[in-house]
Amino acid sequence: MHIAVLSDKMTDARVAATPETVRKYETLGGKVSIQGGAGGGAGIADKDFEDAGARLVPDAISVVKDADIVLAVNRPSGDVIRACKPGAIVIATMDPHRPEAGLDIMASAGVSAFAMELMPRITRAQAMDVLSSQANLSGYRAVIDASAEFTRSLPMMMTAAGTVPAAQIFVMGAGVAGLQAIATARRLGAVVSATDVRPAAKEQVESLGARFVAIEDDEFKAAEASGGYAKEMSKEYQAKQAELVATHIGRQDIVITTALIPGRPAPKLVTQAMIETMRAGSVLVDLAVERGGNIEGSKAGEIVTTARGVKIIGNSTISKVAATASNLYARNLYSFVSTMVDQSKSGLAVDWDDELVKSTNLTRDGAIVHPAFAKALP
Ligand code: NAD
Repeated sequence: MHIAVLSDKMTDARVAATPETVRKYETLGGKVSIQGGAGGGAGIADKDFEDAGARLVPDAISVVKDADIVLAVNRPSGDVIRACKPGAIVIATMDPHRPEAGLDIMASAGVSAFAMELMPRITRAQAMDVLSSQANLSGYRAVIDASAEFTRSLPMMMTAAGTVPAAQIFVMGAGVAGLQAIATARRLGAVVSATDVRPAAKEQVESLGARFVAIEDDEFKAAEASGGYAKEMSKEYQAKQAELVATHIGRQDIVITTALIPGRPAPKLVTQAMIETMRAGSVLVDLAVERGGNIEGSKAGEIVTTARGVKIIGNSTISKVAATASNLYARNLYSFVSTMVDQSKSGLAVDWDDELVKSTNLTRDGAIVHPAFAKALP
């Protein structure tokens, strides 16, 4: 069983395996090959991988060509997919909802592609939940990035020279990232409030010591979709929510937005007019920027400063915590791969009827097989 690990270093500092998981794959009966330099962004040297038993390969095409399993952080390019053996298992975060997702290429190459972000949120799959492992770190990092750009301090300080008030931080979207942002902001001494459209979020927000701010009408009470995800709210609800946010935001020093709806563009929650009400020196972080953004004027990969001196951070990425993120991501992948291996035969034994496999498998035997994206190729 040959396992190939691709480098994502052109786009992402994370890596899909670590020396720890390389050793574990060897114990499962796998032989790991890794593209040289793959761990550089996460602080893992090629030699560390070699010491763990991996074989170094100079380029992506050579690393995948004999592999039974290909591991990556993000979806591999078309050229790399076409270089895989038909029947090879390719596992990554595939971003399958994007129009340019390349599912046709994966199907016609005959690979079995798996999208880790489609892992069901069930107890058995918790150790494989990349959305949670990565969002948790993103939420933490958003607060660190905001505080680095903020020119005041976060905690209240009583000094001989006078009292410094605590910073006010507002977190929009209290899923995994938002809850970690709340916890981190609280640890740093800020006064924290948060909003979400899911009723279950209220108790979670309050249990972290933050104030919950939301329109709690009948639509809100019924807003949780299956799997615990948010629904897209009606225009009327969005208008009421915008009004509430508009009055709250002017009193905030830092706003962190994390609101997402699976498969839909991110809801616009903060307008230019709202940002205009914030004091100069205030900071906003848009963690949904890659999905179209929750904040008007945010730009992916950049910090935008408005004419009034408010900063909008669009470059708070998971790559800034690449070492920790890679550790957790690599363990998530290992947990999933280990369910597909028959250890007594040191070989692959995929149960195609397993819920974890069915939920994440995009393509197989030349077709797009996932019900959300299925279509036969011409
Ligand atoms: P997500 O990344 O899809 O979205 C982030 C948050 O934004 C969500 O809380 C969502 O409700 C919120 N949101 C969406 N539209 C909004 C709007 N207009 N205004 C304000 N907030 C808005 O969410 P996530 O972090 O992946 O979590 C989704 C759910 O899955 C949560 O209920 C979470 O507790 C649950 N979860 C379960 C497990 C498990 O059971 N293993 C693991 C992780 C998460």
